[in-house]
Amino acid sequence: MNPVRERLEVDILLVGAGPASLACALHLSQLVRRHNDAIEQGRQTGKRLEMPSLMIIEKGREIGAHAFSGAIVDPRAFHELLEGFEGEQPPYDGPVTDDALYLLSKTGSFRSPITPPPLKNHGNQVASLGRIVRWMAELCEKNGVDVFPEFPAVELLLEGERVMGARIGDRGRDKEGRPKPNFEPGLDVQAKITVLGEGPRGTLTLQAQRRLQLDAGRQPQIYAVGTKEVWQLPRPVQPGVVYHTLGYPLGTREFGGGFIYTFHDNLIHVGFVLGLDYQDPAADSHFLLQQFKAHPFVSNILEGGKPVSYGAKAIPEGGFYAMPRPYADGLLIVGDSAGFLNAQRLKGIHLAVKSGMLAAETILDSLLQEDSSAEVLKGYAERFERSWAREELWKVRNFRQSFQRGFWRGMAHAAVQFVTGGRGLFDPMPIRAGHTMMKRYPEHAGQPPASLPTVNGELSVDKLTDVYYSDTAHEEDQPCHLKVLDFDICINRCTYEYGNPCQHFCPAQVYEILKLDGGNRLQLNFTNCVHCKTCDIMDPYQIIVWTPPEGGGGPNYKNL
Ligand SMILES: Cc1cc2nc3c(=O)[nH]c(=O)nc-3n(C[C@H](O)[C@H](O)[C@H](O)COP(=O)(O)OP(=O)(O)OC[C@H]3O[C@@H](n4cnc5c(N)ncnc54)[C@H](O)[C@@H]3O)c2cc1C
Ligand code: SF4
Repeated sequence: MNPVRERLEVDILLVGAGPASLACALHLSQLVRRHNDAIEQGRQTGKRLEMPSLMIIEKGREIGAHAFSGAIVDPRAFHELLEGFEGEQPPYDGPVTDDALYLLSKTGSFRSPITPPPLKNHGNQVASLGRIVRWMAELCEKNGVDVFPEFPAVELLLEGERVMGARIGDRGRDKEGRPKPNFEPGLDVQAKITVLGEGPRGTLTLQAQRRLQLDAGRQPQIYAVGTKEVWQLPRPVQPGVVYHTLGYPLGTREFGGGFIYTFHDNLIHVGFVLGLDYQDPAADSHFLLQQFKAHPFVSNILEGGKPVSYGAKAIPEGGFYAMPRPYADGLLIVGDSAGFLNAQRLKGIHLAVKSGMLAAETILDSLLQEDSSAEVLKGYAERFERSWAREELWKVRNFRQSFQRGFWRGMAHAAVQFVTGGRGLFDPMPIRAGHTMMKRYPEHAGQPPASLPTVNGELSVDKLTDVYYSDTAHEEDQPCHLKVLDFDICINRCTYEYGNPCQHFCPAQVYEILKLDGGNRLQLNFTNCVHCKTCDIMDPYQIIVWTPPEGGGGPNYKNL
């Protein structure tokens, strides 16, 4: 039986407390204030605006709990956002002091004599995204914005083609979905405008895309997954060093590479990014991170240290041609959810902030005209067309596409694109959805996941220990938030066709094939899930649907 739900009305609902939504709310509160000041001081004609009610909801147990990034921040957008916020500065760790690109063979390393321009980080800042979003959320609250952690949005509310708000997930249902004594039905939050800033592969964003055909005529979004550990070293480390690597442990088919960023307090962030359009069904991003750490170049840097944090997350890399239409009646989509990410630079934070600001400027128009139809909200796409964000993304519009054809062809195309302003030899260069690239390998059937590299054994961390470092927790007696639409396909087809790649691609050991007397069974250890979304993206049959669990579940990233 459907429970009776309370309804809450707000002017603007923002889903997800990442840099995109937070920048949108902050900029909007400032724009309304500036507008009213200009009218009061006679610098502008028109009507005063009531401060709109702004509500940000976040699924994590606190703001920043699910914030996961590199992060090297291009400060450009924050400079623009903070104009007028006297004395406010993002809590960066510090400026980049050295950057380099290394090419790795199985045991050797070679420092590239030149750092390619997209990987040059002079003038950028090293940061923890978690610290940045906590600071942004505090600034939002000081400016009258309501920020609610533990509020997962599970469903977009629609009336015909018009977005009316979002439904928050229920609390207190048991494994079978039955209400427990602490049951609380989720609210229906109704809003004039709903802003989706859910990060990559957003649940409501996918619902909007499918219901409103926002991705019609666009290329499929293509993703990577980044896994990262933070290590504490027993000796002083120069902060602000940024190394990117290409080569080992990847072959020449896959897209990806490693990164090492150094922070104050002798902390080192060591991560690996794997393009989610690989062919080998046994590919395992967590395993690649362990291999990367065991390479002499990395193991020398980490020697004597110990891991203190871990996380994993998807990255939307398709770029300009994969961006969905980011508006509809009552709807705006910002940040990673709308594909605002430059894959060549591995940077999305500045674009997320800028997209939030452009959305805020459009919302101001909508408030003044008392009209939140697509006709007014398309001003967001028009502003984007005139912005530096568009200029940046246009120059790399074919970058990621080139690498679906292998590393060396990708490099050759990228060079041609660099000198032709992004056009290259084919524009747009076609690309296929990542899961369609996976090859059938019947010989993988029944193969257990590979064992961890033993070089410098203590550097290797198994998946479950890393889940422990991510501080992940979910209420166990709740419905599983990973919806496998057909278990029969898993056991009777996938095992033989692909060898159950879910055991490999999940970086948190959620999917386990149990070999029982009566036959194999897929077990879902959903409480391990770090919300990276890889399973939803890479499952070859597209029968895994990731949905938000009960509020507060998931990782509790501290300094990632
Ligand atoms: C490994 C890795 C390295 C990176 N390195 C860099 C870098 O060095 N520099 C850089 O600029 N960028 C980097 N990025 C990209 C950058 O992190 C993103 O582009 C940026 O965080 C996007 O911001 P966002 O606000 O769009 O989304 P996010 O930061 O993903 O925030 C979205 C928020 O929404 C919440 N949420 C999602 N769905 C719901 C829901 N249904 N209900 C409620 N809450 C929800 C999530 O919990 C999350 O807190 C990196 C990303 C990764 C994964
Ligand atoms: S279950 Fe899916 S979303 Fe969760 S950690 Fe594994 S791959 Fe990522």
